[in-house]
Amino acid sequence: MKSHARVVVIGGGVVGVSTLYHLAKKGWGDAVLLERTELTAGSTWHAAGLLPLFNMSYSVGQIHKYSVAMYQTLEEETGQPVGFAKVGNLRLANTRERMDEYHHYAGTARTIGVNVEFMTQAEIKEMVPFCNAEGLIGGILHPDDGYIQPADLTMALARGARNMGATIHQHTPVTAIERTASGEWLVKTAKGDIACEHVVSATGNYARQTGRMVGLHIPSIPVEHQFIVTEPHPLLIERRKNGEREMPVFRESDASYYMREERQGLLLGPYEKGAPACFVDGVPSTFEKDLFPGDLDRLEPHIEAAIARVPLFGEVGVKEVVNGPIPYTPDGSPLVGPAWGLPNFWINEGHSFGVTAAGGAGWQLAEWIVEGRPTIDMLGVDPRRFGDYASKAYLKAKNEEAYEHVFVIHYHDEERPACRPYRTAPCYERMKTLGAVFGQKFGWERPNWFAPEGVEPKDDWSFRRANYFEHVGNECRNVYENVGVLDMTAFAKCQISGPGAEAFLDRLVANRLPKAVGRIGLCHALNQTGGVRSEFTIMRDAPNRFYLVSAGALERFDLDYLAKQLPADGSVRLDRLTTQVGVLVVAGPRARDLLQRVTDADLSNEAFRWLTGQFVDVGLAPCRLMRVNYVGELGWEIHHPLEMQNHIFDTLMAAGQELGLKPFGIRAMDSLRIEKSYRMVGTELSIEYAAYESGLDRFVHPNKGDFIGRDALVAWRERGFDNAFVTLEVGDITDADALGNEPLYKGGEIIGRATAGGFGWRVGKSLALGFVRPDLAAPGTEVEIEILGNRKPATIIAESPYDPDNAALRA
Ligand SMILES: Cc1cc2nc3c(=O)[nH]c(=O)nc-3n(C[C@H](O)[C@H](O)[C@H](O)COP(=O)(O)OP(=O)(O)OC[C@H]3O[C@@H](n4cnc5c(N)ncnc54)[C@H](O)[C@@H]3O)c2cc1C
Repeated sequence: MKSHARVVVIGGGVVGVSTLYHLAKKGWGDAVLLERTELTAGSTWHAAGLLPLFNMSYSVGQIHKYSVAMYQTLEEETGQPVGFAKVGNLRLANTRERMDEYHHYAGTARTIGVNVEFMTQAEIKEMVPFCNAEGLIGGILHPDDGYIQPADLTMALARGARNMGATIHQHTPVTAIERTASGEWLVKTAKGDIACEHVVSATGNYARQTGRMVGLHIPSIPVEHQFIVTEPHPLLIERRKNGEREMPVFRESDASYYMREERQGLLLGPYEKGAPACFVDGVPSTFEKDLFPGDLDRLEPHIEAAIARVPLFGEVGVKEVVNGPIPYTPDGSPLVGPAWGLPNFWINEGHSFGVTAAGGAGWQLAEWIVEGRPTIDMLGVDPRRFGDYASKAYLKAKNEEAYEHVFVIHYHDEERPACRPYRTAPCYERMKTLGAVFGQKFGWERPNWFAPEGVEPKDDWSFRRANYFEHVGNECRNVYENVGVLDMTAFAKCQISGPGAEAFLDRLVANRLPKAVGRIGLCHALNQTGGVRSEFTIMRDAPNRFYLVSAGALERFDLDYLAKQLPADGSVRLDRLTTQVGVLVVAGPRARDLLQRVTDADLSNEAFRWLTGQFVDVGLAPCRLMRVNYVGELGWEIHHPLEMQNHIFDTLMAAGQELGLKPFGIRAMDSLRIEKSYRMVGTELSIEYAAYESGLDRFVHPNKGDFIGRDALVAWRERGFDNAFVTLEVGDITDADALGNEPLYKGGEIIGRATAGGFGWRVGKSLALGFVRPDLAAPGTEVEIEILGNRKPATIIAESPYDPDNAALRA
């Protein structure tokens, strides 16, 4: 065995082998894969081989699309058949809500170029004549989808990788991974050690064991998943004999199962309630290429539903029950990207649809390792989207929930119940008493909206205007007319200090750093190509000390980036402050009145200007007041010692009674920010769009000196842009606003996509944010937006339809 390689991939399932293949394809033939037993011996050998393109996530959708296209070329490239049966994939709908989900998904599909067609009940019956179509209101068909033989696919990828110079060692378990003094990784096996620059962990059900070798708590625990295969059915035998086409992969989402033909019988795979997490403390050494005993009782309701829908399923006996471990994560999406806190250690784990995702995940990870960045926005699968809060107990409960929720309707405003409440700000109980209906972000409970007296504090999720619509409207109105208070404790916060702090941050962000102590700047960290990876609000606390605030959900993502960029000479120090500092936002025309009653600091416009901060007392508590907010009103963020939050909250509520102070939630904040055309990382800000495409011109200063992404951004501008950020007014709305990911059309052609939308209560209009072709971005341009299957007229309008001159913010 070699003693040195550029990269070592651990794990010979479909995901590891695809990573190896794509690394070799990018020219890194000096790549070695180590497999503890045989290729496919983990979960891959017993997978059902389905390749569902359907996925509500923008990142995962693109990954799946790549895989399905690429798998079709492998046989020709390698000479190894992969058994791709392009039979299509038909998902059924029994309710209008389900159909709304499909229409919403179809928007994402169309914007990323995935082909979908809607089917009527009659068309479904024609396609699958032996199904009972009663009660169906329609369906969605992916004609390019189907199934594959997972083991053959893995072997084809392995052959392709070897052809390009990569090496595979089977029966070579990795026993330890160490970091050498020279900064390399040393991967240890019984057959010898390999020193390498990069390590990729692609070990499926063993992810946590592999993580432990390097002190990493990888947030993946498997769950049991079963499918049943029947004996051959005479009708299916007959159909094959007559050359009739195979039925598409068939999913009755409302009964939570998939079905396809298998060796002239049927294969049924339910996603049932009560499937247990497994290998919580690691895979025992006794479990090799094994399965768990089948548990048909658990599948009973789904078997009955399948028989009702496809009666011939009940007419033949069960030949085989396959019950195997399937890697899972709390949100059901995989973990693809860099490990936090470790250089050159990469994760390709947590794949619950790993056969489908392997191609795209291997491709993007190889881009990331070789080029230093992926080419598609990978936020939805980045391993750093979870934090330390994702304990073993949390993962077990959340992963079981994610499994059980595979077929629930994925409402855009869905909030799942497991492990809640968990991370709570001190004011949680007070907010609850005031009617808060909470959502969860990065484990934190945050009020989404407030139910007034007499209204049940409960969500009724919908792709249309939901039960909270008018209550959110009232919250917005109170912010606009009086003053509101919002809990933003979940914000990520840290301090950067030391003699090298200014130079360090200056190289990292595209904006000029705030010059004077007490000034605040909105600063974006670009990636090497000039796209936007992070947004920080930065306040200068001292000549060499800065306070940084960024999105709560991206805490590990942002802080890991900062930590990895720190100079080795110790001249810059990073201190994480998230769980020490709480944040309450007060905003609205009476915000100054309110705060002036609880502090002796001078809050006049002259003494406390917009985009500045000061350290002042609020009640008894020493606070940092920052005159910024994300809702476009006069307001301050109060950053405070977390343990003093309730004192501050009570002080504000008492002082604010006669000013009309009321709490507001995240949903109101979102409506208010859309009216200001404020961008958000993950939607309007992404590595897929140049900072200029996102309209960040006033925050980007290429002449300030060098910073990461500068030259690439300037070169991108010279090449010309494909997109321009726009704000749209949407017409002809009855009960469904844009939500994000809707296609935008001009003359029947897709010319862009919406990234967010909602009703703007201050302007009284339905609005959307998005990107269009630059030649169509001028205000006044008429386009169309597809909302839940209906094309609606939309007009591009000037940015910030509410208060474009920021008069309220500067008041
Ligand atoms: C019943 C069932 C049906 C499924 N059906 C589908 C489907 O239809 N479509 C779909 O997309 N997905 C399906 N899946 C999921 C799919 O099987 C997995 O997502 C996929 O196989 C994961 O691949 P992987 O390469 O990540 O992991 P694995 O296939 O488990 O591979 C990991 C490999 O790492 C090796 N390894 C671990 N530790 C070490 C070490 N220390 N040193 C060296 N090697 C190590 C293991 O031996 C193993 O071979 C199904 C799963 C189940 C259980």
